[in-house]
Amino acid sequence: MRAWFEIDLWKRVIAFLVLGLIFGLGLRYGMGAEAGGAFAETWFGWLGQLFLRLIRMLIVPLVFFTLVSGVIAMGDPKRLGSLGARALGMYFGTTAIAVTLGLVMATLFQPGASLSPETFAGVTAAPVQPEPPSLIARLLAIVPTNPVEALANGDILQIIFFAIIFGVGILISGDIGKPVAAVIDSASEIMMKVTMFVMETAPFGVFGLMTVVMATQGLGVLKSLGTLTIALYLACALHIVITYGGIIIRTILRLPVMYFFRGVTDAQAVAYSTASSSATLPVTITCAEENLGIDKAVAGSVLPLGATINMDGTAIYIGMVALFGAQAMGIDVTLGQYFLVAVMATLVSIGAAGIPSAGLFLSGLALQQVGIPQEQAFLIIGFILPFDRLLDMMRTLTNVTGDAAVATAVAKWEGELDEEIYRARDI
Ligand code: ASP
Repeated sequence: MRAWFEIDLWKRVIAFLVLGLIFGLGLRYGMGAEAGGAFAETWFGWLGQLFLRLIRMLIVPLVFFTLVSGVIAMGDPKRLGSLGARALGMYFGTTAIAVTLGLVMATLFQPGASLSPETFAGVTAAPVQPEPPSLIARLLAIVPTNPVEALANGDILQIIFFAIIFGVGILISGDIGKPVAAVIDSASEIMMKVTMFVMETAPFGVFGLMTVVMATQGLGVLKSLGTLTIALYLACALHIVITYGGIIIRTILRLPVMYFFRGVTDAQAVAYSTASSSATLPVTITCAEENLGIDKAVAGSVLPLGATINMDGTAIYIGMVALFGAQAMGIDVTLGQYFLVAVMATLVSIGAAGIPSAGLFLSGLALQQVGIPQEQAFLIIGFILPFDRLLDMMRTLTNVTGDAAVATAVAKWEGELDEEIYRARDI
């Protein structure tokens, strides 16, 4: 038992993914496609379903508490002004570039094109909503008329909206807000623990999902997911090198790029192996202070907020998943829908918690923007899920690098960057 927990979770997940892959293929080619598929669904389908339900259970409390506590982490309301505006401006700017990059790559690579609607367990093609509501109506709908109802319905955008306002309210209430701030911080810590606990079931859930996918679909599905993986890795790598290295560090800040990348390597390695920006946060803060020379107050406020709301890798991914779904369903995406997907990817990347697979579970919202109904959206998510780890690792690495780049920029503008420390390392 102890030996089991001593193995890193991600290694167990990958091992069970491979086991499920082999086992599912064994069933398919041993018992025949039909019998093998039915056997897998009956005996192993519930494992994956259970895991998906457990994860869905976490979404609402996790988004709410992590986001409010992220806003609280900004600390002093007076600093909220300049520091917050600068950080938020950078977050939005970089995320906009990220989303665009993701959509372009998904259009170029067409990862979902080799699939058909039947792939998703016999569900028929997505009937597009007869008349999608106007942009104004959609934007208005982000404001909840009743926050409790928004929480109860799991309306993520409304929850994000309320969480941000609520967090700001706590901050400007000063001492009176402190008890609630403490409760929220504690609740968000607790939800992280609960999530880690649920993630312990991931090896089995992934095994179940993988077995069923392989037994019912065979190896052909790997092709489309392989393309998705390549497209995502490429988009993230370009974003890191061009947007962070080239545009922010080199052009805007006029700092030597290699010192930046050398300084954040540890955080990147931890991000890649944990697939969690939040779990990486302590390392990111250490790298920022000790390697990049970012002042404590800036690192301590900008980075926790970034770990919660600045997720460029996730934004790239959400856009890609939406197009992946549309391509698989044979839906033509209109220009207006591209725009809505971009908006949704940005908002979702803000709302996603910095924990493994958070982005994937919220991608249903973007899938709906291209006209895929909720139930089918969940099927697509379940389809990608067994492979999500590999994708998650890269988007988390991107997310964390982005947090560090924005923190460097804010520190420099606030006059809080010690360039001696920044340049002190051997390259
Ligand atoms: N795992 C990512 C992170 O922690 C979030 C995501 O699932 O995209 O940054």
